Amino acid sequence: MAKIIDGKKISSEIREEVRETIEKQGLSVTLAVILVGDDPASRVYVGNKKKACEYCGIRSLTFELKADTTEQSLLELIRRLNEDSSVNGILVQLPLPPQIHTESVIEAIDPKKDVDGFSRASVGALSIGAKGFVSCTPAGVIQLLKRSGIEMEGKECVIIGRSNIVGKPMAMLMLRENATVTVAHSRTKELKSVCKRADILIVAVGKPRMVNHEYVKEGAVVIDVGIHRLDPSENNGKTLCGDVDFEDVESHASFITPVPGGVGPMTIAMLMKNVLESAMEGGNAL
Ligand code: NAD
Repeated sequence: MAKIIDGKKISSEIREEVRETIEKQGLSVTLAVILVGDDPASRVYVGNKKKACEYCGIRSLTFELKADTTEQSLLELIRRLNEDSSVNGILVQLPLPPQIHTESVIEAIDPKKDVDGFSRASVGALSIGAKGFVSCTPAGVIQLLKRSGIEMEGKECVIIGRSNIVGKPMAMLMLRENATVTVAHSRTKELKSVCKRADILIVAVGKPRMVNHEYVKEGAVVIDVGIHRLDPSENNGKTLCGDVDFEDVESHASFITPVPGGVGPMTIAMLMKNVLESAMEGGNAL
């Protein structure tokens, strides 16, 4: 039976480390969060980020803009926050309404304050191994592996998914850890046999419970990035599941992350860590 990687515990350790550093060093740290429109899921995410900031001793400034906000006025707000030296990190909650061009908004954030790590400068820095902010979810996966004592160097790592926010940065980070990396995607042939090569299988495919034991080598480490809402009345009271069929894979893996309580809680913890780093280094200069 696989050991469960406890993302709740590891994420609270990280939040605690951030809190202690801020307290001990008497740092003044500020994160600006911008929410446009009233998407209920986005509101929950922003609320959770606010709570995490409060816990860590990070001041959070929330800007709630109407759904019909123009791109111009959003860019103007970002420009002001870029210039405000008391603001260490700027986060624009995605998705944005259709009249706003997401990429222009991300590119408007000063790379020194891009704590989500989505800008071209941050992604470019990651791919050449330079300093810069790393997208929080893949950075969280690396922490889960390291803090569970899982060796990455020389290991075969297969990542399913090549999105800009998970799959691609995940591949860069695993390369940085000296793993041998394969990125599989929707056009990959013989997906099961590709996945079966993996010592470490990272699943970010966005399909509920797609990966079963047929994709997993005996004794592999399985990291499930997926999150899907379930109807509890049809799922034995469960409200969430991942991209991995946990019950089916558990007996084949050596380590596995559950959903909920695996990768999910790491994202906000790594955001807190990025904001702290920005404050400590006066911007994680590229
Ligand atoms: P995405 O939809 O942008 O990308 C999915 C990727 O999977 C694509 O690259 C696609 O090529 C690949 N794919 C799709 N179908 C496939 C198939 N049948 N076989 C092989 N590859 C296939 O998704 P994303 O934003 O990368 O997110 C992936 C999952 O992670 C989602 O479930 C999402 O909810 C979750 N997620 C979780 C967190 C978190 O905080 N834990 C953060 C971001 C995303």
